[in-house]
Amino acid sequence: MKLLRNAAEVEAALQPARQERQDIGLVPTMGAFHAGHRALMQAARAADEVVVVSLFVNPAQFGPTENLARYPRDEARDAEMAAAAGVDILFVPSVDEMYPPGFDTWIDPGRLGTVLEGAMRPGHFRGVATVCARLFGMVRPRRAYFGRKDAQQVAVIKQVVRDLALPLAIEVCATVRDPDGLALSSRNAYLSPDERRVALALPQALKGGLSAHRAGEDPEAAVRVHLTAEPRLVVDYVATADFDGPTLAAAIRVGGKRLIDNVQLD
Ligand code: AMP
Repeated sequence: MKLLRNAAEVEAALQPARQERQDIGLVPTMGAFHAGHRALMQAARAADEVVVVSLFVNPAQFGPTENLARYPRDEARDAEMAAAAGVDILFVPSVDEMYPPGFDTWIDPGRLGTVLEGAMRPGHFRGVATVCARLFGMVRPRRAYFGRKDAQQVAVIKQVVRDLALPLAIEVCATVRDPDGLALSSRNAYLSPDERRVALALPQALKGGLSAHRAGEDPEAAVRVHLTAEPRLVVDYVATADFDGPTLAAAIRVGGKRLIDNVQLD
């Protein structure tokens, strides 16, 4: 596996693949890899001849009150995991490489960027859309891989690709969960063991919502009943939305830490 830090090196490394018209797969990430990231890498490895993983903690998608500096980082461990997953190129650009002096074009994903997660995190999806478009331009993948865990992000990226007629396919991978049901997230590292137990209410509530939906009842109400039974969490939102298909999504805070999760309704 090559660990590369600038786009020119990535371009040089991809030259032979481009000449051979090989498929390039891209997995955009912020690092602190877990089995969810690994599943995306494996999906790319199965479909594409060349697999590029980007590792960039994107300042533009963090709000002013969100702690960018505290985001978990462990490049050496990530490089080991990516190599073990059969990744060809791990692209680890600096902030200057992604936002060089004079950078001044932003992609605004519109309505989808302003509801639910977008309402809680103003500017978040603008940052996500912009960095992904820039990565797509640098790597020019045939396919890019995203996790269903961030269902609204999938919807935003699909909208950007459609609206800007970008020549790539977006592949969506199922949410990878711990055996107790908690969706894997780099941010789970922030939770104390006690907070982690409280956070389990989120996947349990969504599961209850899905059962309610299947029984012809109101899924959002079922999720709210479940979540409000746990006094140690705060509900940011519970909603059904069309995120690449009907989706029941919720966000909570436990000890000031945010968790999001969702289930598909069909
Ligand atoms: P992140 O590094 O958190 O920005 O995530 C990088 C990619 O991994 C995104 O497409 C996420 O949706 C995806 N991802 C994160 N957690 C999971 C998970 N538990 N299961 C599947 N994909 C995930």
